[in-house]
Amino acid sequence: MSHEIAVAERATPAELLSRSRDLLRGSEYETAIALARQAAEEGDPATRAEALWILANCRRLQDDYPQALEYALGAAELFREIGHPGGEARARSEVARALLSSGETDEALKESLSALELAEAGADLSAHVTAMTALGNVYLSMQQLDLALQVCERGAEMARLIGDEIANAALQDTVACVLMNDSEVARGRGDQTEAVRLALAAAERSHTAMLIAREHGHRRNEACALANLAEALGSAGQPARALELLDTWRIDPARDSAYTITHHLDTRGGICLALERYEEAITLFTQALGVAESKSAAMMFCEHLSAAYERSGDFAAALDAHKKYHLLYRQVASEAALRTARVAAVRMETEQAKASAERERLRADGLLRMSLEDPLTGLANRRHLDDELATGVAGRAIALVDVDHFKRVNDSFSHQIGDEVLRALGGLLRPACRAGDVAARYGGEEFAVLFRGLSTAEAAAAAERIRRTVEDYDWAGVAPGLAVTVSVGVAVGGESALPAGLLSLADRRLYEAKNAGRNRVHISTSVS
Ligand code: GH3
Ligand code: MG
Ligand code: MG
Repeated sequence: MSHEIAVAERATPAELLSRSRDLLRGSEYETAIALARQAAEEGDPATRAEALWILANCRRLQDDYPQALEYALGAAELFREIGHPGGEARARSEVARALLSSGETDEALKESLSALELAEAGADLSAHVTAMTALGNVYLSMQQLDLALQVCERGAEMARLIGDEIANAALQDTVACVLMNDSEVARGRGDQTEAVRLALAAAERSHTAMLIAREHGHRRNEACALANLAEALGSAGQPARALELLDTWRIDPARDSAYTITHHLDTRGGICLALERYEEAITLFTQALGVAESKSAAMMFCEHLSAAYERSGDFAAALDAHKKYHLLYRQVASEAALRTARVAAVRMETEQAKASAERERLRADGLLRMSLEDPLTGLANRRHLDDELATGVAGRAIALVDVDHFKRVNDSFSHQIGDEVLRALGGLLRPACRAGDVAARYGGEEFAVLFRGLSTAEAAAAAERIRRTVEDYDWAGVAPGLAVTVSVGVAVGGESALPAGLLSLADRRLYEAKNAGRNRVHISTSVS
Protein backbone atom coordinates (compact mmCIF):
# COMPACT_ATOMS: atom_id res chain seq x y z
CA MET A 1 0.00 0.00 0.00
CA SER A 2 2.74 2.46 0.96
CA HIS A 3 4.44 1.51 -2.29
CA GLU A 4 1.27 2.41 -4.23
CA ILE A 5 1.10 5.82 -2.61
CA ALA A 6 4.77 6.47 -3.32
CA VAL A 7 4.02 5.81 -7.00
CA ALA A 8 0.90 7.94 -6.85
CA GLU A 9 2.73 10.98 -5.51
CA ARG A 10 5.07 11.15 -8.46
CA ALA A 11 2.72 10.05 -11.21
CA THR A 12 1.01 12.30 -13.76
CA PRO A 13 -2.79 12.07 -14.05
CA ALA A 14 -2.39 9.95 -17.19
CA GLU A 15 -0.07 7.54 -15.39
CA LEU A 16 -2.43 7.37 -12.42
CA LEU A 17 -5.23 6.52 -14.81
CA SER A 18 -3.36 3.77 -16.58
CA ARG A 19 -2.19 2.27 -13.27
CA SER A 20 -5.74 2.47 -11.96
CA ARG A 21 -7.02 0.67 -15.05
CA ASP A 22 -4.50 -2.15 -14.52
CA LEU A 23 -5.57 -2.47 -10.89
CA LEU A 24 -9.23 -2.63 -11.96
CA ARG A 25 -8.33 -5.50 -14.29
CA GLY A 26 -6.55 -7.25 -11.44
CA SER A 27 -9.63 -6.81 -9.18
CA GLU A 28 -7.65 -4.53 -6.79
CA TYR A 29 -10.61 -2.22 -6.44
CA GLU A 30 -9.72 -0.12 -3.39
CA THR A 31 -6.29 0.84 -4.73
CA ALA A 32 -7.74 1.41 -8.20
CA ILE A 33 -10.30 3.75 -6.62
CA ALA A 34 -7.65 5.73 -4.72
CA LEU A 35 -5.62 6.30 -7.89
CA ALA A 36 -8.66 7.08 -10.06
CA ARG A 37 -9.83 9.65 -7.51
CA GLN A 38 -6.44 11.33 -7.57
CA ALA A 39 -6.43 11.29 -11.40
CA ALA A 40 -9.94 12.81 -11.40
CA GLU A 41 -8.82 15.62 -9.10
CA GLU A 42 -5.63 16.49 -10.97
CA GLY A 43 -6.52 15.68 -14.57
CA ASP A 44 -8.22 17.53 -17.40
CA PRO A 45 -11.90 16.80 -18.25
CA ALA A 46 -10.99 13.84 -20.47
CA THR A 47 -8.92 12.28 -17.69
CA ARG A 48 -11.65 13.03 -15.18
CA ALA A 49 -14.29 11.36 -17.37
CA GLU A 50 -12.07 8.28 -17.79
CA ALA A 51 -11.40 8.21 -14.03
CA LEU A 52 -15.12 8.42 -13.23
CA TRP A 53 -15.68 5.50 -15.59
CA ILE A 54 -13.08 3.42 -13.74
CA LEU A 55 -14.66 4.43 -10.42
CA ALA A 56 -18.07 3.31 -11.71
CA ASN A 57 -16.62 -0.04 -12.77
CA CYS A 58 -14.93 -0.56 -9.42
CA ARG A 59 -18.05 0.29 -7.46
CA ARG A 60 -20.23 -2.00 -9.56
CA LEU A 61 -17.78 -4.84 -9.14
CA GLN A 62 -17.82 -4.15 -5.40
CA ASP A 63 -21.63 -4.44 -5.64
CA ASP A 64 -22.16 -0.77 -4.72
CA TYR A 65 -24.69 -0.13 -7.49
CA PRO A 66 -26.05 3.26 -6.38
CA GLN A 67 -22.51 4.66 -6.19
CA ALA A 68 -21.58 2.99 -9.48
CA LEU A 69 -24.61 4.61 -11.09
CA GLU A 70 -23.61 8.09 -9.82
CA TYR A 71 -20.07 7.75 -11.15
CA ALA A 72 -21.25 6.33 -14.47
CA LEU A 73 -23.75 9.15 -14.95
CA GLY A 74 -21.03 11.69 -14.14
CA ALA A 75 -18.70 10.05 -16.66
CA ALA A 76 -21.44 10.03 -19.32
CA GLU A 77 -22.10 13.76 -18.78
CA LEU A 78 -18.41 14.64 -19.02
CA PHE A 79 -17.76 12.49 -22.07
CA ARG A 80 -20.73 14.11 -23.76
CA GLU A 81 -19.49 17.60 -22.87
CA ILE A 82 -16.05 16.95 -24.35
CA GLY A 83 -17.60 15.31 -27.42
CA HIS A 84 -16.28 11.77 -26.96
CA PRO A 85 -19.07 9.41 -28.15
CA GLY A 86 -16.98 6.26 -27.57
CA GLY A 87 -16.35 7.27 -23.97
CA GLU A 88 -19.99 8.21 -23.49
CA ALA A 89 -20.96 4.81 -24.91
CA ARG A 90 -18.75 3.05 -22.34
CA ALA A 91 -20.15 5.23 -19.54
CA ARG A 92 -23.73 4.57 -20.62
CA SER A 93 -23.02 0.83 -20.76
CA GLU A 94 -21.89 1.16 -17.16
CA VAL A 95 -25.08 3.07 -16.29
CA ALA A 96 -27.02 0.20 -17.89
CA ARG A 97 -25.15 -2.44 -15.89
CA ALA A 98 -25.63 -0.59 -12.61
CA LEU A 99 -29.35 -0.28 -13.39
CA LEU A 100 -29.57 -3.93 -14.34
CA SER A 101 -27.90 -5.00 -11.12
CA SER A 102 -30.44 -2.85 -9.26
CA GLY A 103 -33.24 -4.72 -11.02
CA GLU A 104 -34.20 -1.88 -13.39
CA THR A 105 -34.33 -3.78 -16.62
CA ASP A 106 -36.37 -1.32 -18.70
CA GLU A 107 -34.12 1.62 -17.93
CA ALA A 108 -31.06 -0.58 -18.46
CA LEU A 109 -32.38 -1.51 -21.90
CA LYS A 110 -32.76 2.14 -22.93
CA GLU A 111 -29.28 2.97 -21.71
CA SER A 112 -27.58 0.04 -23.39
CA LEU A 113 -29.31 0.75 -26.70
CA SER A 114 -28.22 4.37 -26.54
CA ALA A 115 -24.69 3.17 -25.65
CA LEU A 116 -24.69 1.00 -28.76
CA GLU A 117 -25.84 3.91 -30.92
CA LEU A 118 -23.09 6.15 -29.51
CA ALA A 119 -20.44 3.45 -30.00
CA GLU A 120 -21.52 3.18 -33.62
CA ALA A 121 -21.45 6.97 -34.01
CA GLY A 122 -17.97 7.07 -32.51
CA ALA A 123 -16.80 4.10 -34.63
CA ASP A 124 -15.23 2.78 -31.42
CA LEU A 125 -14.92 -1.03 -31.43
CA SER A 126 -13.95 -1.33 -27.80
CA ALA A 127 -16.95 0.79 -26.76
CA HIS A 128 -19.03 -1.39 -29.08
CA VAL A 129 -17.97 -4.54 -27.24
CA THR A 130 -18.74 -2.88 -23.89
CA ALA A 131 -22.19 -1.84 -25.12
CA MET A 132 -22.90 -5.33 -26.51
CA THR A 133 -21.93 -6.85 -23.17
CA ALA A 134 -24.38 -4.60 -21.35
CA LEU A 135 -27.13 -5.19 -23.92
CA GLY A 136 -26.59 -8.97 -23.94
CA ASN A 137 -27.03 -9.07 -20.16
CA VAL A 138 -30.13 -6.89 -20.37
CA TYR A 139 -31.75 -9.16 -22.98
CA LEU A 140 -30.83 -12.16 -20.86
CA SER A 141 -32.59 -10.78 -17.82
CA MET A 142 -35.59 -9.87 -20.01
CA GLN A 143 -35.64 -13.50 -21.15
CA GLN A 144 -35.18 -12.34 -24.74
CA LEU A 145 -32.95 -15.33 -25.25
CA ASP A 146 -32.58 -15.25 -29.02
CA LEU A 147 -31.63 -11.57 -28.97
CA ALA A 148 -29.29 -12.13 -26.02
CA LEU A 149 -27.54 -14.94 -27.88
CA GLN A 150 -27.15 -12.89 -31.06
CA VAL A 151 -25.78 -9.85 -29.26
CA CYS A 152 -23.37 -11.86 -27.11
CA GLU A 153 -22.03 -13.93 -30.01
CA ARG A 154 -21.48 -10.80 -32.10
CA GLY A 155 -19.91 -9.00 -29.15
CA ALA A 156 -17.59 -11.95 -28.45
CA GLU A 157 -16.52 -12.06 -32.08
CA MET A 158 -15.74 -8.35 -31.99
CA ALA A 159 -13.88 -8.72 -28.68
CA ARG A 160 -11.66 -11.42 -30.22
CA LEU A 161 -11.12 -9.19 -33.23
CA ILE A 162 -9.71 -6.40 -31.06
CA GLY A 163 -7.84 -8.87 -28.83
CA ASP A 164 -9.90 -8.19 -25.70
CA GLU A 165 -9.83 -11.70 -24.23
CA ILE A 166 -11.37 -10.67 -20.91
CA ALA A 167 -14.43 -9.23 -22.65
CA ASN A 168 -14.57 -12.31 -24.88
CA ALA A 169 -14.56 -14.58 -21.81
CA ALA A 170 -17.25 -12.53 -20.08
CA LEU A 171 -19.42 -12.75 -23.20
CA GLN A 172 -18.82 -16.51 -23.52
CA ASP A 173 -20.03 -16.86 -19.95
CA THR A 174 -23.14 -14.79 -20.70
CA VAL A 175 -23.80 -17.06 -23.70
CA ALA A 176 -23.58 -19.96 -21.23
CA CYS A 177 -26.27 -18.30 -19.10
CA VAL A 178 -28.47 -17.86 -22.17
CA LEU A 179 -28.02 -21.54 -23.06
CA MET A 180 -28.90 -22.51 -19.49
CA ASN A 181 -32.10 -20.51 -19.77
CA ASP A 182 -32.86 -22.27 -23.06
CA SER A 183 -32.16 -25.54 -21.28
CA GLU A 184 -34.73 -24.65 -18.59
CA VAL A 185 -37.27 -23.85 -21.30
CA ALA A 186 -36.63 -27.24 -22.94
CA ARG A 187 -36.99 -28.97 -19.58
CA GLY A 188 -40.23 -27.06 -19.01
CA ARG A 189 -41.75 -28.52 -22.17
CA GLY A 190 -40.57 -31.97 -21.17
CA ASP A 191 -37.70 -32.31 -23.64
CA GLN A 192 -35.06 -33.75 -21.31
CA THR A 193 -32.63 -34.69 -24.08
CA GLU A 194 -32.56 -31.14 -25.45
CA ALA A 195 -32.32 -29.72 -21.92
CA VAL A 196 -29.21 -31.81 -21.22
CA ARG A 197 -27.68 -31.00 -24.60
CA LEU A 198 -28.10 -27.27 -23.97
CA ALA A 199 -26.74 -27.56 -20.41
CA LEU A 200 -23.65 -29.33 -21.72
CA ALA A 201 -23.19 -26.64 -24.38
CA ALA A 202 -23.47 -24.04 -21.61
CA ALA A 203 -20.90 -25.95 -19.53
CA GLU A 204 -18.46 -25.84 -22.42
CA ARG A 205 -18.80 -22.06 -22.80
CA SER A 206 -18.42 -21.45 -19.06
CA HIS A 207 -15.40 -23.73 -19.00
CA THR A 208 -13.76 -21.71 -21.78
CA ALA A 209 -14.65 -18.47 -19.99
CA MET A 210 -13.23 -19.80 -16.71
CA LEU A 211 -9.89 -20.77 -18.28
CA ILE A 212 -9.46 -17.41 -20.03
CA ALA A 213 -10.35 -15.47 -16.87
CA ARG A 214 -7.90 -17.58 -14.86
CA GLU A 215 -5.14 -17.02 -17.41
CA HIS A 216 -5.68 -13.26 -17.15
CA GLY A 217 -5.96 -13.26 -13.37
CA HIS A 218 -9.55 -11.99 -13.48
CA ARG A 219 -10.70 -13.49 -10.22
CA ARG A 220 -14.28 -12.26 -10.24
CA ASN A 221 -14.97 -13.56 -13.75
CA GLU A 222 -13.24 -16.84 -13.01
CA ALA A 223 -15.39 -17.36 -9.90
CA CYS A 224 -18.51 -16.47 -11.87
CA ALA A 225 -17.69 -18.81 -14.75
CA LEU A 226 -16.85 -21.59 -12.31
CA ALA A 227 -20.21 -21.23 -10.55
CA ASN A 228 -21.99 -21.19 -13.92
CA LEU A 229 -20.07 -24.27 -15.00
CA ALA A 230 -21.11 -26.04 -11.78
CA GLU A 231 -24.75 -25.05 -12.33
CA ALA A 232 -24.65 -26.37 -15.91
CA LEU A 233 -23.05 -29.66 -14.85
CA GLY A 234 -25.61 -30.05 -12.09
CA SER A 235 -28.37 -29.48 -14.58
CA ALA A 236 -26.81 -31.93 -17.05
CA GLY A 237 -27.06 -34.71 -14.46
CA GLN A 238 -23.58 -34.42 -12.96
CA PRO A 239 -24.30 -32.89 -9.53
CA ALA A 240 -21.41 -34.66 -7.78
CA ARG A 241 -18.90 -33.20 -10.22
CA ALA A 242 -20.56 -29.82 -9.86
CA LEU A 243 -20.21 -29.83 -6.06
CA GLU A 244 -16.59 -30.98 -6.33
CA LEU A 245 -15.88 -28.12 -8.66
CA LEU A 246 -17.45 -25.59 -6.28
CA ASP A 247 -15.27 -27.04 -3.49
CA THR A 248 -12.14 -26.13 -5.44
CA TRP A 249 -12.90 -22.43 -5.10
CA ARG A 250 -11.56 -20.95 -1.89
CA ILE A 251 -13.63 -17.95 -0.93
CA ASP A 252 -11.38 -15.12 0.14
CA PRO A 253 -13.53 -12.45 1.80
CA ALA A 254 -10.73 -9.94 1.30
CA ARG A 255 -10.81 -10.39 -2.48
CA ASP A 256 -14.18 -11.92 -3.31
CA SER A 257 -17.12 -9.56 -3.37
CA ALA A 258 -20.51 -10.36 -1.91
CA TYR A 259 -21.69 -11.14 -5.45
CA THR A 260 -19.10 -13.90 -5.87
CA ILE A 261 -19.85 -15.33 -2.43
CA THR A 262 -23.62 -15.36 -2.85
CA HIS A 263 -23.32 -16.67 -6.40
CA HIS A 264 -21.43 -19.70 -5.09
CA LEU A 265 -23.77 -20.21 -2.12
CA ASP A 266 -26.85 -19.91 -4.32
CA THR A 267 -25.47 -22.26 -6.98
CA ARG A 268 -24.58 -24.86 -4.37
CA GLY A 269 -28.05 -24.41 -2.84
CA GLY A 270 -29.66 -25.04 -6.24
CA ILE A 271 -27.72 -28.27 -6.74
CA CYS A 272 -28.60 -29.46 -3.22
CA LEU A 273 -32.24 -28.66 -3.89
CA ALA A 274 -32.14 -30.77 -7.08
CA LEU A 275 -30.56 -33.58 -5.04
CA GLU A 276 -33.44 -33.21 -2.55
CA ARG A 277 -30.98 -32.25 0.18
CA TYR A 278 -33.43 -29.66 1.48
CA GLU A 279 -31.82 -28.84 4.84
CA GLU A 280 -28.53 -28.01 3.15
CA ALA A 281 -30.26 -25.99 0.44
CA ILE A 282 -32.17 -23.98 3.05
CA THR A 283 -28.96 -23.28 4.98
CA LEU A 284 -27.13 -22.16 1.83
CA PHE A 285 -29.93 -19.87 0.60
CA THR A 286 -30.24 -18.39 4.11
CA GLN A 287 -26.51 -17.68 4.14
CA ALA A 288 -26.74 -16.06 0.70
CA LEU A 289 -29.62 -13.89 1.91
CA GLY A 290 -27.50 -12.83 4.90
CA VAL A 291 -24.73 -11.41 2.71
CA ALA A 292 -26.81 -10.39 -0.32
CA GLU A 293 -25.10 -7.63 -2.28
CA SER A 294 -28.31 -5.85 -3.24
CA LYS A 295 -32.02 -5.87 -2.61
CA SER A 296 -32.72 -7.38 -5.99
CA ALA A 297 -30.24 -10.20 -5.25
CA ALA A 298 -31.88 -10.65 -1.84
CA MET A 299 -35.22 -10.93 -3.62
CA MET A 300 -33.91 -13.81 -5.70
CA PHE A 301 -32.54 -15.66 -2.65
CA CYS A 302 -35.89 -15.25 -0.86
CA GLU A 303 -37.57 -16.82 -3.87
CA HIS A 304 -35.15 -19.76 -3.83
CA LEU A 305 -35.49 -20.10 -0.06
CA SER A 306 -39.25 -20.13 -0.32
CA ALA A 307 -39.08 -22.90 -2.94
CA ALA A 308 -36.69 -24.94 -0.77
CA TYR A 309 -39.01 -24.65 2.26
CA GLU A 310 -41.99 -25.59 0.15
CA ARG A 311 -40.32 -28.70 -1.23
CA SER A 312 -39.21 -29.70 2.27
CA GLY A 313 -42.85 -29.48 3.33
CA ASP A 314 -42.43 -26.46 5.64
CA PHE A 315 -45.21 -24.32 4.15
CA ALA A 316 -45.31 -21.75 6.94
CA ALA A 317 -41.60 -20.96 6.43
CA ALA A 318 -42.17 -20.96 2.66
CA LEU A 319 -44.90 -18.34 3.04
CA ASP A 320 -42.67 -16.29 5.34
CA ALA A 321 -39.87 -16.25 2.78
CA HIS A 322 -42.37 -15.33 0.10
CA LYS A 323 -43.66 -12.39 2.15
CA LYS A 324 -40.09 -11.17 2.58
CA TYR A 325 -39.68 -11.46 -1.17
CA HIS A 326 -42.76 -9.37 -1.72
CA LEU A 327 -41.65 -6.66 0.72
CA LEU A 328 -38.27 -6.41 -1.01
CA TYR A 329 -40.02 -6.26 -4.35
CA ARG A 330 -41.95 -3.16 -3.26
CA GLN A 331 -38.82 -1.50 -1.86
CA VAL A 332 -36.85 -2.15 -5.04
CA ALA A 333 -39.65 -0.68 -7.13
CA SER A 334 -39.90 2.56 -5.10
CA GLU A 335 -36.12 3.05 -4.97
CA ALA A 336 -36.02 2.50 -8.72
CA ALA A 337 -38.50 5.33 -9.25
CA LEU A 338 -36.12 7.79 -7.54
CA ARG A 339 -33.11 6.64 -9.53
CA THR A 340 -35.03 6.73 -12.77
CA ALA A 341 -35.59 10.48 -12.33
CA ARG A 342 -31.83 11.14 -12.18
CA VAL A 343 -31.09 8.84 -15.11
CA ALA A 344 -33.85 10.45 -17.15
CA ALA A 345 -32.43 13.92 -16.41
CA VAL A 346 -29.01 12.95 -17.73
CA ARG A 347 -30.48 11.19 -20.73
CA MET A 348 -32.57 14.25 -21.53
CA GLU A 349 -29.43 16.41 -21.44
CA THR A 350 -27.86 14.15 -24.05
CA GLU A 351 -30.98 14.33 -26.20
CA GLN A 352 -31.08 18.12 -25.86
CA ALA A 353 -27.39 18.39 -26.71
CA LYS A 354 -27.96 16.25 -29.80
CA ALA A 355 -30.93 18.41 -30.84
CA SER A 356 -29.04 21.66 -30.33
CA ALA A 357 -26.02 20.32 -32.25
CA GLU A 358 -28.44 19.48 -35.06
CA ARG A 359 -30.01 22.95 -34.88
CA GLU A 360 -26.54 24.52 -34.93
CA ARG A 361 -25.65 22.41 -37.96
CA LEU A 362 -28.84 23.46 -39.75
CA ARG A 363 -28.27 27.09 -38.81
CA ALA A 364 -24.65 26.96 -39.99
CA ASP A 365 -25.91 25.25 -43.14
CA GLY A 366 -28.48 28.01 -43.64
CA LEU A 367 -25.90 30.72 -43.02
CA LEU A 368 -23.51 29.06 -45.39
CA ARG A 369 -26.18 28.88 -48.05
CA MET A 370 -27.18 32.50 -47.41
CA SER A 371 -23.58 33.63 -47.65
CA LEU A 372 -23.19 32.00 -51.07
CA GLU A 373 -26.59 32.64 -52.65
CA ASP A 374 -28.20 35.66 -54.22
CA PRO A 375 -31.58 36.07 -52.52
CA LEU A 376 -33.44 37.64 -55.48
CA THR A 377 -32.63 35.05 -58.13
CA GLY A 378 -31.51 32.05 -56.05
CA LEU A 379 -28.37 31.87 -58.21
CA ALA A 380 -24.87 31.81 -56.78
CA ASN A 381 -23.70 35.25 -55.61
CA ARG A 382 -20.50 37.05 -56.51
CA ARG A 383 -18.67 35.59 -53.54
CA HIS A 384 -19.58 32.06 -54.57
CA LEU A 385 -18.45 32.76 -58.12
CA ASP A 386 -15.15 34.24 -56.91
CA ASP A 387 -14.58 31.14 -54.73
CA GLU A 388 -15.31 28.99 -57.76
CA LEU A 389 -12.94 31.02 -59.99
CA ALA A 390 -10.23 30.75 -57.32
CA THR A 391 -10.24 26.96 -57.72
CA GLY A 392 -8.73 27.53 -61.18
CA VAL A 393 -9.97 28.58 -64.62
CA ALA A 394 -7.74 26.52 -66.90
CA GLY A 395 -10.06 24.83 -69.39
CA ARG A 396 -13.08 26.81 -68.22
CA ALA A 397 -15.13 29.38 -70.08
CA ILE A 398 -17.01 32.33 -68.64
CA ALA A 399 -19.98 34.11 -70.15
CA LEU A 400 -20.84 37.57 -68.77
CA VAL A 401 -24.51 38.25 -69.47
CA ASP A 402 -25.73 41.85 -69.13
CA VAL A 403 -29.31 43.01 -69.60
CA ASP A 404 -29.71 45.48 -72.42
CA HIS A 405 -31.06 48.91 -71.49
CA PHE A 406 -32.20 47.66 -68.11
CA LYS A 407 -32.49 51.21 -66.83
CA ARG A 408 -35.35 51.67 -69.29
CA VAL A 409 -37.17 48.63 -67.88
CA ASN A 410 -37.03 50.20 -64.45
CA ASP A 411 -37.99 53.58 -65.77
CA SER A 412 -40.78 52.56 -68.20
CA PHE A 413 -42.32 49.83 -66.09
CA SER A 414 -41.27 49.86 -62.45
CA HIS A 415 -38.50 48.78 -60.19
CA GLN A 416 -40.71 45.83 -59.13
CA ILE A 417 -41.05 44.72 -62.74
CA GLY A 418 -37.28 45.17 -63.02
CA ASP A 419 -36.88 42.76 -60.11
CA GLU A 420 -39.33 40.35 -61.77
CA VAL A 421 -37.15 40.41 -64.88
CA LEU A 422 -34.02 39.61 -62.87
CA ARG A 423 -35.83 36.76 -61.10
CA ALA A 424 -37.03 35.36 -64.44
CA LEU A 425 -33.51 35.60 -65.85
CA GLY A 426 -32.31 33.51 -62.88
CA GLY A 427 -34.83 30.87 -63.92
CA LEU A 428 -33.58 30.96 -67.53
CA LEU A 429 -29.89 30.75 -66.63
CA ARG A 430 -30.09 27.89 -64.14
CA PRO A 431 -30.99 25.28 -66.82
CA ALA A 432 -28.01 26.47 -68.90
CA CYS A 433 -25.75 24.84 -66.32
CA ARG A 434 -24.61 21.24 -66.29
CA ALA A 435 -22.92 19.54 -63.34
CA GLY A 436 -19.80 21.52 -62.44
CA ASP A 437 -21.04 24.74 -64.09
CA VAL A 438 -22.02 27.74 -61.97
CA ALA A 439 -24.57 30.42 -62.81
CA ALA A 440 -24.22 33.55 -60.69
CA ARG A 441 -25.67 37.00 -60.31
CA TYR A 442 -22.49 38.96 -60.71
CA GLY A 443 -23.84 42.44 -60.00
CA GLY A 444 -27.05 44.46 -60.41
CA GLU A 445 -28.31 43.32 -63.82
CA GLU A 446 -25.23 41.43 -64.80
CA PHE A 447 -24.93 37.65 -64.67
CA ALA A 448 -22.10 35.17 -65.21
CA VAL A 449 -22.07 31.55 -66.22
CA LEU A 450 -18.87 29.63 -65.57
CA PHE A 451 -18.66 26.57 -67.80
CA ARG A 452 -16.42 23.57 -67.39
CA GLY A 453 -14.86 21.53 -70.17
CA LEU A 454 -16.23 23.38 -73.22
CA SER A 455 -14.30 24.11 -76.38
CA THR A 456 -14.48 27.66 -77.75
CA ALA A 457 -17.14 26.58 -80.26
CA GLU A 458 -19.18 24.85 -77.58
CA ALA A 459 -18.93 27.88 -75.28
CA ALA A 460 -20.07 30.13 -78.13
CA ALA A 461 -23.04 27.84 -78.79
CA ALA A 462 -23.97 27.75 -75.11
CA ALA A 463 -23.83 31.57 -74.89
CA GLU A 464 -25.91 31.91 -78.04
CA ARG A 465 -28.51 29.53 -76.59
CA ILE A 466 -28.73 31.76 -73.53
CA ARG A 467 -29.10 34.91 -75.62
CA ARG A 468 -31.86 33.34 -77.76
CA THR A 469 -33.70 31.86 -74.76
CA VAL A 470 -33.88 35.34 -73.21
CA GLU A 471 -35.01 36.95 -76.43
CA ASP A 472 -37.68 34.26 -77.00
CA TYR A 473 -39.04 34.36 -73.48
CA ASP A 474 -42.64 35.51 -73.05
CA TRP A 475 -41.78 38.84 -71.37
CA ALA A 476 -45.21 40.25 -72.11
CA GLY A 477 -46.42 37.73 -69.52
CA VAL A 478 -44.38 39.70 -66.93
CA ALA A 479 -45.65 43.07 -68.13
CA PRO A 480 -47.56 43.90 -71.31
CA GLY A 481 -45.27 45.46 -73.86
CA LEU A 482 -42.10 44.29 -72.10
CA ALA A 483 -39.24 42.86 -74.16
CA VAL A 484 -35.85 41.93 -72.78
CA THR A 485 -32.58 41.00 -74.45
CA VAL A 486 -29.08 40.41 -73.19
CA SER A 487 -25.58 40.94 -74.52
CA VAL A 488 -22.99 38.29 -73.78
CA GLY A 489 -19.19 38.44 -73.60
CA VAL A 490 -17.42 35.10 -73.52
CA ALA A 491 -13.81 34.17 -72.77
CA VAL A 492 -12.28 30.68 -72.78
CA GLY A 493 -9.36 29.94 -70.44
CA GLY A 494 -6.19 28.24 -71.68
CA GLU A 495 -3.69 26.12 -69.75
CA SER A 496 -2.39 28.89 -67.50
CA ALA A 497 -5.34 31.28 -67.48
CA LEU A 498 -5.92 33.33 -64.31
CA PRO A 499 -9.36 34.35 -63.02
CA ALA A 500 -8.74 38.11 -63.34
CA GLY A 501 -7.46 37.76 -66.90
CA LEU A 502 -10.41 35.62 -67.96
CA LEU A 503 -12.94 37.99 -66.39
CA SER A 504 -11.43 41.12 -67.88
CA LEU A 505 -11.35 39.55 -71.33
CA ALA A 506 -15.01 38.49 -71.07
CA ASP A 507 -15.86 42.00 -69.90
CA ARG A 508 -14.10 43.50 -72.94
CA ARG A 509 -16.09 41.20 -75.24
CA LEU A 510 -19.30 42.22 -73.46
CA TYR A 511 -18.46 45.88 -73.99
CA GLU A 512 -17.89 45.13 -77.70
CA ALA A 513 -21.22 43.32 -77.92
CA LYS A 514 -22.96 46.35 -76.42
CA ASN A 515 -21.19 48.70 -78.84
CA ALA A 516 -21.98 46.45 -81.78
CA GLY A 517 -25.70 46.97 -81.10
CA ARG A 518 -26.56 44.70 -78.13
CA ASN A 519 -28.53 41.41 -78.12
CA ARG A 520 -25.47 39.52 -79.37
CA VAL A 521 -22.60 37.27 -78.27
CA HIS A 522 -18.94 38.19 -78.61
CA ILE A 523 -16.32 35.62 -77.89
CA SER A 524 -12.57 35.54 -77.32
CA THR A 525 -10.56 32.48 -78.19
CA SER A 526 -8.51 31.05 -75.48
CA VAL A 527 -6.42 33.24 -73.20
CA SER A 528 -3.45 31.94 -71.34
P1 GH3 B 1 -26.74 48.61 -71.03
O1 GH3 B 1 -27.52 47.99 -72.12
O2 GH3 B 1 -25.64 49.46 -71.52
O3 GH3 B 1 -26.24 47.58 -70.05
O4 GH3 B 1 -27.72 49.60 -70.26
P2 GH3 B 1 -28.29 49.39 -68.80
O5 GH3 B 1 -29.37 50.37 -68.62
O6 GH3 B 1 -28.68 47.98 -68.61
O7 GH3 B 1 -27.02 49.70 -67.94
P3 GH3 B 1 -26.72 50.62 -66.75
O8 GH3 B 1 -25.48 50.05 -66.10
O9 GH3 B 1 -26.69 52.04 -67.20
O10 GH3 B 1 -27.94 50.47 -65.79
C1 GH3 B 1 -28.17 49.31 -65.01
C2 GH3 B 1 -29.38 49.53 -64.19
O11 GH3 B 1 -29.77 48.38 -63.51
C3 GH3 B 1 -29.18 50.59 -63.15
C4 GH3 B 1 -29.90 50.06 -61.91
O12 GH3 B 1 -30.91 50.93 -61.49
C5 GH3 B 1 -30.50 48.78 -62.38
N1 GH3 B 1 -30.43 47.78 -61.34
C6 GH3 B 1 -29.31 47.28 -60.78
N2 GH3 B 1 -29.65 46.39 -59.84
C7 GH3 B 1 -31.02 46.29 -59.83
C8 GH3 B 1 -31.95 45.53 -59.08
O13 GH3 B 1 -31.61 44.73 -58.23
N3 GH3 B 1 -33.26 45.66 -59.35
C9 GH3 B 1 -33.69 46.56 -60.29
N4 GH3 B 1 -34.99 46.66 -60.54
N5 GH3 B 1 -32.83 47.32 -61.00
C10 GH3 B 1 -31.50 47.19 -60.78
MG1 MG C 1 -27.19 46.53 -68.70
MG1 MG D 1 -24.49 46.59 -66.46
